[in-house]
Amino acid sequence: MLAPDEPPPFEVVNPDGSSGLFLFCDHASHRLPRALGDLGLRPDQLVDHIGWDIGAAAVARQLSAALDAPLVLSGYSRLAIDCNRPPGVPSSIPVVTGGVPVPGNQNLPESAIQARQEALFWPYHRAISALLDRRPRPLALLSVHSFTPHFPGQVRPWPVAVVYGQDRRLASLFFDEFRRDDPSLLVGDNEPYRVTPEGDYGIPTYGEARGIPAMLLEIRQDGIATEQGAMAWAARVTRVYRAIEQAIPR
Ligand SMILES: [Zn+2]
Repeated sequence: MLAPDEPPPFEVVNPDGSSGLFLFCDHASHRLPRALGDLGLRPDQLVDHIGWDIGAAAVARQLSAALDAPLVLSGYSRLAIDCNRPPGVPSSIPVVTGGVPVPGNQNLPESAIQARQEALFWPYHRAISALLDRRPRPLALLSVHSFTPHFPGQVRPWPVAVVYGQDRRLASLFFDEFRRDDPSLLVGDNEPYRVTPEGDYGIPTYGEARGIPAMLLEIRQDGIATEQGAMAWAARVTRVYRAIEQAIPR
């Protein structure tokens, strides 16, 4: 699926970083493999939140640099295949997303689904697994995301949210410290969604299955759509992480 001159399906930043924090960013890019064309969407749709998490990669890269933490980023759009969905669920290769039909994802033969999994999904996750296996056991895993302020039928007032499944240990520390750091900050607690085995891949696989405290850090995209905003949020998250680091259960 990927031509030799196209970017790889993942990028590893700072693999030997000294931090106990391990970062990954599932929705880092809106790039599509050339072989998929534009999936029948307009250019403005491809770069909207249905294609990627606006601002998330910038925040993740800055966190990696500030905390000296390893980071793995996905290389392609979630419109091709979503790296935070178990392969095979309907939202893995969405036929409709955020109310927008995706013509290029309709009625895909099994061979086309497999091709996307093999070219895009599995290489990214093999990179995360391999890095987790070869490093000392991380203290915590942070999956960095952004969410849209506008969603049909839902008001989303939280500038930031902690999102988790069965394990609230890390989320609880972040939640309390975000509010201690800025008492006026409205912090979402499993908003605007929660982690489920059907709707998520990274936290169940790398956090819950390995017993490592883990969560999604979800920042509302209007706060990090500019470089300046992303840097400000990365500085805040860095401060908060440093304050809670010693309290993370080992
Ligand atoms: Zn995301």
